[in-house]
Amino acid sequence: MRCPEGCGRTLSMNLLPGAHPCWTLQEHPDGTGSLTPSVWRKEGCGCHFFLRRGKIEWVS
Ligand SMILES: [Zn+2]
Repeated sequence: MRCPEGCGRTLSMNLLPGAHPCWTLQEHPDGTGSLTPSVWRKEGCGCHFFLRRGKIEWVS
């Protein structure tokens, strides 16, 4: 996915259990997805957000 903050970088979230860091993608019946835990880019733009039901929720 693209960084939602607009810096244009591509974010890659590892979904493989056992690797680290690793995220869990939960798919909902309505076709949206939620990602846990939050995504925090400590390098680059530093954005920190949740993806819940396909929508970005910023962590301030
Ligand atoms: Zn960014």
